[in-house]
Amino acid sequence: MSPILQINNIRKTFGTTNVLDGISFEMNEGECICLLGSSGSGKSTLLQIIAGLLKADHGEIKMTGLQVLSNNTFIPPEKRPINMVFQDYALWPHMTIRKNIEYGLKMEKVPETVRNERIASVSKLLHLEELLNRLPSELSGGQQQRVGIARALATEPSILLMDEPLSNLDVKLRTEMRSELAHILRKLSITTIYVTHDMMEAFALADRILVLHEGKIAQLAPPQRMYEEPKTLGVAQLMGYQN
Ligand code: ADP
Ligand code: MG
Repeated sequence: MSPILQINNIRKTFGTTNVLDGISFEMNEGECICLLGSSGSGKSTLLQIIAGLLKADHGEIKMTGLQVLSNNTFIPPEKRPINMVFQDYALWPHMTIRKNIEYGLKMEKVPETVRNERIASVSKLLHLEELLNRLPSELSGGQQQRVGIARALATEPSILLMDEPLSNLDVKLRTEMRSELAHILRKLSITTIYVTHDMMEAFALADRILVLHEGKIAQLAPPQRMYEEPKTLGVAQLMGYQN
């Protein structure tokens, strides 16, 4: 099986800082990789480059065999087979939950019958069925975040990019959503890159964890292996070892 995502030698400098200094990795279809690293290690920068929201200085990206980035190629975000969930969901405040979920599907010119099917299926998956006619302001923070995830899943992206989607929730809700998300991602077997600085989240969700440190990949390995054989002191510290 050929990889669904191929990232080759991505570089990005802000001012004099090499935020990303030659990042390369591949993902298989259905895999979930958690991007871990301290604050400022370049996790969001890498995700935004993959999404096409930010331009890299150098590097190549292929998705589903399609070259989306190279020396002379730049496919814009809306034409990439991806969708993204941010920390701040930015729902349309004047639209009902149903309309919020439907919006991206309309943009993609998905026919109405298919739109209705997709809305029904993601609302069921994320327990939003009773809330479809409400406005975002009539939902709790946790429910709004469910809508953000539903909205992204409804477009059936080949690759789902999530940047700390649970970090605004309180601890109890975060723990609940963590296991719910783990369940959903496994069930749908959707290829996901999930940015977090929460080790517990990474362990619950990841097939492999990718640790960024000083612009490079410190380690890329399944959670258990990373825990048992951390390659660097930094990774060991992230895994909870005391030095
Ligand atoms: P993380 O998501 O891992 O916390 P970021 O990718 O947001 O890290 O940021 C990585 C580094 O790049 C930080 O030092 C940050 O200050 C810097 N940075 C991010 N975006 C910009 C920008 N638009 N302009 C200048 N510096 C930036
Ligand atoms: Mg970030």
